[in-house]
Amino acid sequence: MAIKEYSNGEIVIIWKSDLCIHSGICVKTLPDVYHPKDSPWITPQNATTEALKAQIAQCPSGALSWREATPKDDQ
Ligand code: SF4
Repeated sequence: MAIKEYSNGEIVIIWKSDLCIHSGICVKTLPDVYHPKDSPWITPQNATTEALKAQIAQCPSGALSWREATPKDDQ
């Protein structure tokens, strides 16, 4: 399974591509963060950590999750 990580320096968004059902809820909720046509397609620095956590909880497939960032995570 492809697992990608995207950090805003506080949390790391984890996206499991095989689980994503492309519902587009993430894109509709935070269009400045999720933009499927670009690379990287997730730019978590464009929203607050609280907004990101609330959005991740809405992902219907479990493709999105998060963990606390560590100093090793790239911005
Ligand atoms: S909300 Fe979840 S399942 Fe829907 S497109 Fe985004 S990552 Fe994929």
